[in-house]
Amino acid sequence: MSSRKGIIIAIDGPAGSGKSTTAKLLADKLDYIYIDTGAMYRTMTYFALQKNIQLEQSAELVRIVEGMDFQFIKNGEELLVNGENVSSAIRSPEVSKKVSDYSKIVEVRKLLVQKQREFGRNGMIVMEGRDITTTVFPDADLKIFLTAEIDVRAYRRMIELKEKGVEIEIDDVKLNLESRDRIDSSREASPLMITNDSIIIDTTRMSIDEQVNAIYDKAKSIIEKIEN
Ligand code: C5P
Repeated sequence: MSSRKGIIIAIDGPAGSGKSTTAKLLADKLDYIYIDTGAMYRTMTYFALQKNIQLEQSAELVRIVEGMDFQFIKNGEELLVNGENVSSAIRSPEVSKKVSDYSKIVEVRKLLVQKQREFGRNGMIVMEGRDITTTVFPDADLKIFLTAEIDVRAYRRMIELKEKGVEIEIDDVKLNLESRDRIDSSREASPLMITNDSIIIDTTRMSIDEQVNAIYDKAKSIIEKIEN
C-alpha cells in the first residue's frame, strides 16, 4: 500500500446504474486511470460469439482470454484488444444478451481479475464492475455501491445506446437489465453484492454532477488523510 500513489476506488452496482459515466468523470477529475471491467467481460463474449465458442468450452475460452492484451485508450472510453478497437462491437444487443452467461465461467473470471489487478498495481485508479469491491480489490480505499430504480436505469441505458447508434425499445432494454441483474447477483463465482464497508448511493434522483461530486468529496477526504 505504501509504495502506491493515490488511492483505489472500487465501484460496483447493477446494470445501467450510472457506474461508467460516473467513474469516468470521477477519474478525469482526480486525474486517475478509469477501468471499465464490464468492457473486458463483453470483449470475451464478443470473441466467443464470433468464433462460435459455446459456454461449455471453457478451456477454449481461457486460451483466448490468455492471449488478450487489453489497452484502454481515451481514459477508458475506448478499448483496444490486441490492437483492434472493439468499443462499438462489444455494445451490440447480441453481446448484451449473452455476456452474463459467459461471465459465470470461473476460469475466465480468474484470468480477468488478474489483469484487472495489474491495472491497479500503482493505485490512482477508479475501477467499476460487479465484483470490484468484493474480489478484485477487497482492500480498496473507497468502496461504492451505485444503484437506481430499474425504470430510470433502463431509460438512461436506452439514451446511451441511441447516442451510439443502437436503436432499441425501452422494454427490451429493461428486460435485458433485469435478466443480467438476476444472473449477476445469483451466480456462484463472485456474485454482485453489497459489502459491509461499501457506501450505497442511489442515483435515481441525482444528476451526473451530483453523483460524481458525492464520490469525489469522499475520495478527497481519504486522499488528504493519507497525505497528512
Ligand atoms: O458493466 P456492463 O453492464 O457493461 O457489464 C456487462 C456484464 O459483464 C455484466 O452484466 C456482468 O455479467 C459482467 N461483469 C462481471 N463482472 C464485472 C463486470 C461485468 O461479471 N466486474
